[in-house]
Amino acid sequence: MKSENERTNDGAPRRGRVLVFSGPSGVGKGTLLKRLFAETDFPLVSSVSATTRSPRPGEIDGVDYRFLSRDEFLRRREAGEFLESFEVYAGGALYGTLRADVEAALERGDWVVLEIDVKGAASVAATYPDAETIFIEPPSIEALRERLKGRGSEDDAEIEKRVAQAEAELAASGFYRRRVVNDDLDEAYKKILAFLSEK
Ligand code: ADP
Ligand code: 5GP
Repeated sequence: MKSENERTNDGAPRRGRVLVFSGPSGVGKGTLLKRLFAETDFPLVSSVSATTRSPRPGEIDGVDYRFLSRDEFLRRREAGEFLESFEVYAGGALYGTLRADVEAALERGDWVVLEIDVKGAASVAATYPDAETIFIEPPSIEALRERLKGRGSEDDAEIEKRVAQAEAELAASGFYRRRVVNDDLDEAYKKILAFLSEK
């Protein structure tokens, strides 16, 4: 049951918000978002993206991603089902956000969290001009490389690919409404909380 202040005058749930989080792989998005979900009362829901990449060990279809064949992804893209979709890494898998999921969440009054790349974020910001767009930056490229190594989920070649991608993403991230440097985790978390509490 939603409280009164989450309802409009006619009793309908207040329309939700779109919250976009981007930043280089390994910068700490997952860590910060996990905390946001666990420690706040915001009506947050994750948008489950579709991708053509294979699941990593432990990833669950429909929870972490919807794992689609390339054919199915392209068919659904052709049918206009995606709010945005991109090849995040050149020559790699396709990733995309399903429009119907986001719209359903907004209708319910939820705050939909999209953890997507810079190209996807630009596209979402064009469709939802009120979207909150937050770019998480590493304190340095070297720190980012260390975090990727520490996480242990990618090999060295994959790490270097992600570091190169990070430099390109940083260069293209000027349009985000908010920027947060994830150096000290608590400081970064508090900054995000303050942004989300503003309205
Ligand atoms: P992303 O979701 O952006 O790819 P993760 O949340 O998986 O990144 O974080 C990558 C690694 O960096 C993890 O091992 C995480 O524990 C670590 N990490 C996250 N934030 C910080 C921080 N502020 N300082 C040091 N290490 C961090
Ligand atoms: P990973 O393969 O490590 O899960 O994700 C790689 C990259 O794809 C990350 O930068 C992530 O933000 C991005 N990504 C995940 N889902 C989507 C999506 O639906 N759309 C876009 N544009 N990027 C996504």
